Amino acid sequence: MKTIPIWQDIKLKDYPSLDKDIETDILIIGGGITGINLLYALKDDKRKITLVERNKIGMGVTSRSTAKITFLQQNIYSKLKKNFNYDTAFKYYKATKEAINKMVHVINEEKIACDLQKVDSYYYALSKTNVNKVNEEQNILKDFGEKVYEITELPNKIKVEKGIYVKDTYVFHPLKYVDALAKISITNNHRIYENTNIYSIEAYDDYFIAYFDDHKIKCQQIVLACHYPYFLFPYVFPLKGYIEKSYVIAQKSKNLPFSAINVKNPIYSYRFYKDYGLTLSSSHNGSFKNNHEDNFAKLFNVSKDKIAYAWSNNDIMTLDNLPYIGPIMDNIYIATGYNTWGMTSSFIASLALRDILQNKTNKYAEIFAPKRGLTKDKILNLGISIASSGYSFIDSKVNLNKSYYNNNPYFIKKDNVTLGIYVDSDNKKHIVKIKCPHLGCNLLFNKVEKTWECPCHGSVFNVDGKCILGPSNYDISINGD
Ligand SMILES: Cc1cc2nc3c(=O)[nH]c(=O)nc-3n(C[C@H](O)[C@H](O)[C@H](O)COP(=O)(O)OP(=O)(O)OC[C@H]3O[C@@H](n4cnc5c(N)ncnc54)[C@H](O)[C@@H]3O)c2cc1C
Repeated sequence: MKTIPIWQDIKLKDYPSLDKDIETDILIIGGGITGINLLYALKDDKRKITLVERNKIGMGVTSRSTAKITFLQQNIYSKLKKNFNYDTAFKYYKATKEAINKMVHVINEEKIACDLQKVDSYYYALSKTNVNKVNEEQNILKDFGEKVYEITELPNKIKVEKGIYVKDTYVFHPLKYVDALAKISITNNHRIYENTNIYSIEAYDDYFIAYFDDHKIKCQQIVLACHYPYFLFPYVFPLKGYIEKSYVIAQKSKNLPFSAINVKNPIYSYRFYKDYGLTLSSSHNGSFKNNHEDNFAKLFNVSKDKIAYAWSNNDIMTLDNLPYIGPIMDNIYIATGYNTWGMTSSFIASLALRDILQNKTNKYAEIFAPKRGLTKDKILNLGISIASSGYSFIDSKVNLNKSYYNNNPYFIKKDNVTLGIYVDSDNKKHIVKIKCPHLGCNLLFNKVEKTWECPCHGSVFNVDGKCILGPSNYDISINGD
């Protein structure tokens, strides 16, 4: 079994790293599906546009997704109707449907070989108590004019209390998509640089300076497409959302043309890729239930011998279930908080930000504005978000979760710094600092994927301390033997 996402098992095009000061009109920070969709959307923009990625294009959260392209997103429309109103729910539905149509159009027009497959999307309840959630979503979709079908058994023969499905949705290979789209987005004026980590931004009267290594980029506008913004001010992102962590396996299976997700809890989500079936489960608020072995074990029980890939992933959940897309201050824009539906929402973001950057009107921009007002869900979830981050911070300090570790890794103190030491199967020691450089939480070790993970805001580091996910701007490596 490989403990990497199935999508990462391909070779992607390499881009140069930036090694000098430059000037650009628009700087896009982050080369996940958000950044690359935006670079493509701005393809005909004559201004100088530079996209910088701290690691490799696509290898962040995008490469760990289940990559369903669907507008049936559990009970999102009922939630938006209750928290906002019918009109907001309808606009999110329309924006998502349009994004799917345009994305498929781009894939076809540009002949992007990303294994796009048209499938039906299912939403289902396993117990009687959850049937009302499915019914509510069915009703609102019908009010929108959508054709919805009912079932009591999924195509993989799993019996359900009640399910619905819709047509004209898709699944694809997210890295093949990002890789191909990146290649065709580069023009004389538009550039991509990898291994270029922006660690701070300074604002001047009519320009910004973004810093990386010993160099800087001068620019007029900045788009933060970096999933979790790494700075605290001005937007104080840790108060605007929380991390949801989920676990995925891919096992050999007949390909069935459907994708499905149920009402929580526990969550079960399915899709197929070639001769593999992907199952997602054990989702939890990233601040709690962080015994990764236990969480994976629930999936490994399915049929361990056939599992080819296993991995986990984090996404940002917003407090009111709508993504944050738009300006957070003059000439700085954000696109994040996709509530685990970023394949479509990143496309919505690319169209909205393209229009905003080109001073055009976008009919959906208003509902996604990051500075939108409070709603009752937002107030309730703000409390939950503050309490869960506070809990995980304190818990990480008082309890190093030693019960998860079984002596590997072990810890030592050197010059008042706690170091975590993982010894691999070749007896090689991998030594890291176990304090997250973002806001100082102590890290947990994920024994299955061999990563150090922050329970507060989701930063993930490999055994040698390189940051591979999350807001941390710095690695935690030290020289070990
Ligand atoms: C388990 C799971 C399953 C999911 N399944 C689905 C699904 O089926 N369908 C769906 O629609 N969505 C799904 N999602 C959600 C979706 O995968 C994400 O919302 C989406 O991939 C986020 O893309 P992104 O470009 O914003 O982030 P990323 O892909 O993480 O891209 C951000 C990039 O910014 C870079 N970066 C960060 N900081 C810096 C810096 N300082 N300087 C330079 N670069 C930087 C990172 O290295 C990274 O490459 C799922 C999420 C999870 C957790």
